[in-house]
Amino acid sequence: MQELAAARRIGREVRDAEKEQQNKRHVLIVGSVALDTIGTPFGQVTEAAGGSAYYAAIAASFYAPVRIVAVVGSDFPKQHLDVLTARGVSLDGLQVKDGRTFRWQGRYEYDMSQAHTIATELNVFQDFRPEIPKVWRSSGYVFLANIDPDLQSSVLDQVNRPQVVAADTMNFWIEGKRDAVLKVLGRADISLLNDAEIRQLSGVSGLVSAARKVLDLGPKIAVIKKGEHGAVMFSREAHFAAPSYPLEEVRDPTGAGDSFAGALVGYLASQGEASEAAVRRAIVHGSAVASFTVEDFGAARLLTLTRDEIEQRYREMRAFASVEPQPRARKEVK
Ligand code: AMP
Repeated sequence: MQELAAARRIGREVRDAEKEQQNKRHVLIVGSVALDTIGTPFGQVTEAAGGSAYYAAIAASFYAPVRIVAVVGSDFPKQHLDVLTARGVSLDGLQVKDGRTFRWQGRYEYDMSQAHTIATELNVFQDFRPEIPKVWRSSGYVFLANIDPDLQSSVLDQVNRPQVVAADTMNFWIEGKRDAVLKVLGRADISLLNDAEIRQLSGVSGLVSAARKVLDLGPKIAVIKKGEHGAVMFSREAHFAAPSYPLEEVRDPTGAGDSFAGALVGYLASQGEASEAAVRRAIVHGSAVASFTVEDFGAARLLTLTRDEIEQRYREMRAFASVEPQPRARKEVK
């Protein structure tokens, strides 16, 4: 009898240890899920599914199982949630509240590096309190996508020390809640800011000094997204510059930063580590996925993207970054 009980206990412990191990490879994302109205010189789209967590989750789902913590209103079309579920994105942390979903309206001019916000309607976000389901608290990889920095902090309060915490933000929060943004970055391992944001945050214009200031806050790695000019990474010991993919046409840059970040964190989770070598590869994966995002409006291109297409672009981008001339990739005949 006693032997049976002992065997059961050991079986339970093994299963728990296995679950814990699997948990460590999951990516937990907190951010916005939105309805976006976007205009660019190439067209426009009204109330497309978007938001920082939405883009990041789709991008990360190419690499690892994903969990979303966010809120939508009762008006959010169910089909957009079904798209996420079909990709293996778990929605147990997504709250559906009576009221209207967060809405963002933005416009880009021919210089697509800058989004001009026309309107931000917080709606159900106003009273959002992230609640992390119990089994999600030991997720190994956490991405704090762009959202109120106090909410980002509350997510960190609820998780057990993850292997990697990456954090993003935007000018809206740097202006309005600067101290809260600094606090979050102080608890992150990787900061993911664009060049304008890191200049605004650090108060210096040189990116090397700006990155230094961010590293002084706490992160081990500062990644700076530079849109069509690629991305750079700074740590105390290393510096790495990744090219962007030379696209003929950028139709809508919305979600580029979020899909870059989602792919980067997802890739690290798939590798189970965040060494400098892994982060370098992750940055190139992030750039590759972001280059697809901007080919079409909203998340349309991400939703038809395949892992093979990502791998192909990753290989091309590795070749671009090489100082030595590389053999030309053969164009596929369709
Ligand atoms: P990006 O990757 O930087 O182009 O981010 C675009 C996404 O950010 C859009 O889908 C918006 O819904 C979302 N967004 C815009 N403003 C905010 C905000 N204040 N808080 C959270 N998400 C936002």
